[in-house]
Amino acid sequence: MSFSFSQRLKQIPPYLFAEIDRLKNEMIRRGVDVIDLGVGDPDLPTPPRIVERLKEAAEDPENHRYPSYNGLFSFRRAVSDWYKRRFGVDLDPEREVIALIGSKEGIAHLPLAFVDPGDVVLVPNPAYPVYHIGTIFAGGRPYYMPLLEENGFLPNLEKIPEDIARRAKLIFVNYPNNPTAAIADLDFFERLKRFAKKYNIIVCHDAAYTELSYDGYRPPSFLEVKGSKEIAIEFHSLSKTYNMTGWRIGFAVGNADVIKALKEVKSNIDSGVFQAVQWAAIAALEGSEDAVEKNRRIFQERRDILIDGLRNIGLRVQRAKATFYLWARVPSGYSSASFSRFLLERAGIVTTPGSGFGDAGEGYIRIALTVPKGRIIEAVKRLANLKISVSQ
Ligand SMILES: *Cc1c(COP(=O)(O)O)cnc(C)c1O
Repeated sequence: MSFSFSQRLKQIPPYLFAEIDRLKNEMIRRGVDVIDLGVGDPDLPTPPRIVERLKEAAEDPENHRYPSYNGLFSFRRAVSDWYKRRFGVDLDPEREVIALIGSKEGIAHLPLAFVDPGDVVLVPNPAYPVYHIGTIFAGGRPYYMPLLEENGFLPNLEKIPEDIARRAKLIFVNYPNNPTAAIADLDFFERLKRFAKKYNIIVCHDAAYTELSYDGYRPPSFLEVKGSKEIAIEFHSLSKTYNMTGWRIGFAVGNADVIKALKEVKSNIDSGVFQAVQWAAIAALEGSEDAVEKNRRIFQERRDILIDGLRNIGLRVQRAKATFYLWARVPSGYSSASFSRFLLERAGIVTTPGSGFGDAGEGYIRIALTVPKGRIIEAVKRLANLKISVSQ
């Protein structure tokens, strides 16, 4: 038997981390003590009181039935209260909030509501892959906006050709950014709003990392910009904030018509988030900030140790103000892939080649801070032994 795959699947670019994965597994098989700084999945557990709330809610038969499509009203109200407290943004829980099965789910499905075959979607490069995959699945054409170091890894909106901007339906942005760890200020968001209004484009802001920030910095929401709600949807996740990647719950907020369209797509594909998980998420959003603050301190300490180690061997890396990634320039003579391979073969350290996030990520590696401090210290020791090879 032979099956032919859809054009949609055939269009997905080859999995660029396959080579690193293969090498990693081979080394583990050989008994090498591999330190995995590749995955963007927190190693820390979900705070106990959230787990407790799930257990209680799981016992209640009320929660065993199909959930509502857009989420429990209590969940949507908890989201709107959290937005008010955290960002000073007013949201109507009835019309401007929707629950998602993780923010990835909403991001992937949104283009189905607005993009017809041939339509343009503005997608950053390098980026979290779901923006361009979601676009391709809807038949759309991604137009890549390079994120360059000289622009602080913000897209240069003025460089987008007029005819592309006119044909674009959506623009994806993500700050604090994965993979570059860059941040955006309200001034950039204001310019983005004006651009989107001029060309009638929906701003899709992925705000997954607003709560993981350091040195007292507090990342803004796009919705803090006056008038932004007319043209924007913002995706949020509990995954990174509360170490809940496995739970599959997130939410989207913003323009009521955009939220309604997403709800329409979703109601024909999925049947919502397990209500017990929603109750646990409410406990997370309404609970004290202590657990999140503890996370920030842990990641910040790991960041500082690793940055010292990287700089010590001559690598150029910025002190990330948010996210749990470092985006390091590879030394001359290496590509993203060859340097990532070098670190794995010579030091047993897994990193992600920047080129895997798009060709504009070439020349960088992404390093995730998702292992305990002791392992970071061990990684720094191994890096120090590489000194001669790297700095030549
Ligand atoms: C982790 C991540 C998400 C996905 O979060 P879920 O809510 O777990 O689906 C979304 N965007 C970016 C940029 C991420 O890194």
